Amino acid sequence: MTRAHLNALGTTRSTSHSSFLLPPSCFLLSSVKPSLTGIILEELAEFLKKRGAPSYRAKQITDWVYKKRVTSFDAMTDLPNELRAELAAEFETPKTEVVRVLGSKDTTQKFLFRLRDQNLIESVLIPASPALYGQPSDRRTVCVSSQVGCAYGCKFCASGLDGFTRNLDAGEIVQQLIEIEKSSGERIDNVVFMGMGEPLANLRNVLRAIRIINAPWGLGIGARHITVSTSGLAPQIRELADESTQFRLALSLHGATDEVRGKIMPVNRKYPLKVLLEACDYYVAKKGRMTFEYILIAGVNDTDEQARELARIARRLSAKINLIPYNTVEGLEWSRPSHARQEKFQSILRKHGVIATLRREKGDDIAAACGQLRLQTSRAANLRMERPG
Ligand code: SAH
Ligand code: SF4
Repeated sequence: MTRAHLNALGTTRSTSHSSFLLPPSCFLLSSVKPSLTGIILEELAEFLKKRGAPSYRAKQITDWVYKKRVTSFDAMTDLPNELRAELAAEFETPKTEVVRVLGSKDTTQKFLFRLRDQNLIESVLIPASPALYGQPSDRRTVCVSSQVGCAYGCKFCASGLDGFTRNLDAGEIVQQLIEIEKSSGERIDNVVFMGMGEPLANLRNVLRAIRIINAPWGLGIGARHITVSTSGLAPQIRELADESTQFRLALSLHGATDEVRGKIMPVNRKYPLKVLLEACDYYVAKKGRMTFEYILIAGVNDTDEQARELARIARRLSAKINLIPYNTVEGLEWSRPSHARQEKFQSILRKHGVIATLRREKGDDIAAACGQLRLQTSRAANLRMERPG
């Protein structure tokens, strides 16, 4: 696959942005202009119309941004200079930088990014998805981050350890994919929002990013190949049921009773299982289905009783279950159960008529690697700058 990659030419920062195209709530810092990789065709057409420019320019611009992947308006050579200057005053050119890549081309690769404000986030490229979400297995999946840090503080997760810093804007989410394709030379087939952060706590920006990722004028990745994972924000799950943007939803359950779930997921206090599952009933009634993620943690949520309860919940929602053996996190006490226990847990689910897959080593990386790279890097005394190939 060939991509045109031009370097950013001028990068202007402004302290006052008119937020002409996008509602100000899309941007955490009012001093930061909307990102070029967060623009939407229809809004661009509106912007051009107001300036008296022909509407076909909108498609020309999205082609430059999402197809040819240029990073400055000066590179958009078929646009009049005046329009280029107007756009440059309105939008921020991409500032997300790959600072570290771990792994090799044939294995899972982890990318560490530095954002425009020096914050670090990470994404993971998995070369072949082992049919996790019913897709063929010859695909490349990217696990993206939706926030810097996470406010939900699940006890087993690296992403929440240093708390929440800020939401990513849509452009910063899309840029992770663009930069990974650029750096790896691979075409991405699947996107999972299973990196750092709780996507439903940044819903507006995540939905905008999904629109861009999915649109034919954007990255053109099919809705069935986009999965959003949530720790269970009940009101937002209801909101998504009524939302027209298409994608798949995965619920991180990790405990089949309030007692067990509440021990490892503080969010369960706010939205206990009764409230959460009613929201899920509503979602499934409207959207057809959701998947469950269930991490297996030794001695915590891997008992026969939890398996039976989980089967009951899965049947209620006709949900398939992805069992994920826990990936140890430095400094945390949890560990994964033995293979025998993992298989026993799965067999109980199957005996109750539930479809449950058990992730093996490679697939483990999809979720578990996220959050850990940033942690290691930010904790290292000296951040060695490694650049890809
Ligand atoms: N906040 C969202 C999405 C990001 S986490 C959510 O919680 O769903 C993506 C998935 O990785 C979740 O299912 C999460 O529980 C899981 N995860 C987090 N830490 C993990 C670890 N150490 N091992 C295995 N899975 C982990
Ligand atoms: Fe946040 Fe998800 Fe990690 Fe929980 S599992 S701390 S919600 S990223």
